[in-house]
Amino acid sequence: MYDFVVVGAGPAGSRFSRRAAAAGYDVLTLERGTVGTPLACSGHVSSDIWSFAPDGARDALLQNVVYGARFHVGGPESEAHPFYKDSVVSNVIDRQELDRMLADAAREAGADLREQHRVMGVEEYRDHVEVTVRTPDGVETVEAKMVAGCDGPVSTVRSELGLPEPAEKLQGVLGFSAEDDAGDFVDVHLTVPRFFAWRIPRGSDGVEYGLAVPPGGEPDATARFEEFVAGYGVEMERFCAGMIPVGPADTVTSRRGFLIGDAAAQTKPFTGGGILYGMTAADHAAAEIDPDRPATLVNYERAWRDTLSTEISLGRWIRRAYSLPEPVQSVGLRALSGEIGVHMDRPTSFFSREHLRKLLP
Ligand SMILES: Cc1cc2nc3c(=O)[nH]c(=O)nc-3n(C[C@H](O)[C@H](O)[C@H](O)COP(=O)(O)OP(=O)(O)OC[C@H]3O[C@@H](n4cnc5c(N)ncnc54)[C@H](O)[C@@H]3O)c2cc1C
Repeated sequence: MYDFVVVGAGPAGSRFSRRAAAAGYDVLTLERGTVGTPLACSGHVSSDIWSFAPDGARDALLQNVVYGARFHVGGPESEAHPFYKDSVVSNVIDRQELDRMLADAAREAGADLREQHRVMGVEEYRDHVEVTVRTPDGVETVEAKMVAGCDGPVSTVRSELGLPEPAEKLQGVLGFSAEDDAGDFVDVHLTVPRFFAWRIPRGSDGVEYGLAVPPGGEPDATARFEEFVAGYGVEMERFCAGMIPVGPADTVTSRRGFLIGDAAAQTKPFTGGGILYGMTAADHAAAEIDPDRPATLVNYERAWRDTLSTEISLGRWIRRAYSLPEPVQSVGLRALSGEIGVHMDRPTSFFSREHLRKLLP
């Protein structure tokens, strides 16, 4: 019997697999497709990424570095309110290659990571779990002491374990143009309901345009995206789409199962970013959970919430500003723009001495 069956080899699953295997546990990781595909992410991350990625990752993954964001209450022609640092704020990386590197690192640490293995069912028992898997050769059942649901926003493990859904799921749409742009700024447009649209320069890998909105609105996400891109007057070469879960539920653990990453909605409510929060939670899971002692699942809940809950709560407050009336947004952006001292993953840094010093005239 395995110690852990990990479902999903995105950043959260591969990171947990690597850490658990390195700690000596017997780990089976099941990925329904091919690691890194399909793409549904901007790969826009703080420099903390380099402490999670294997050696040499920066050279292999980096497409552009970003020093700040220009906020707009309207489209491309509207006034820009820049927020910036004199050092790198964030990195634009090859997200698909990141997933492949993290999966390789998990394998090197000893995890048995299998692609084309789709988990269809999970049963929990007193002393083990049974996981039903569709493989290229048919349907199999594997047994483990615990199951880790790292299977993204629409999580099979979450529903099989009867765990609650995230508070909200946004619809994200991305498109890429062939422009060559290694600019220092991303553009953020507060022109869609309850979130934003963005433009990210990716160096010689083109420019990405995207937006995220709550589902069910009129016009829908695709129509809004077309309108946004038309404002820039550019042609898209390719598109992709995905869901962004926001608002973790009160529990992400069951009797012998636990969720990490998007399955647990461990994301930043004000950007939708989840790569680093998911891997942070994965490290807590690997450090805290002993597969022979289900009581240690409580330690995981406590540890990841101790690290991320305040950031997520403050992130929810920041997101509220996206829905303020336009004149209020303009006044606020004009007053606050300029040099900043914040860390993009940590809203608490808004209250840091470094940032407050920058705010003083
Ligand atoms: C449009 C968009 C833009 C984004 N931009 C950013 C960004 O710039 N920065 C950032 O930090 N985050 C961004 N995110 C969020 C980020 O992509 C996620 O937070 C991150 O991918 C979560 O990692 P994960 O490992 O939890 O889940 P995922 O990356 O979704 O990985 C889950 C894995 O599980 C597999 N899987 C699913 N079901 C099964 C099953 N039944 N059996 C086996 N395998 C299964 C999937 O194939 C997948 O490989 C963006 C998201 C979207 C939609």
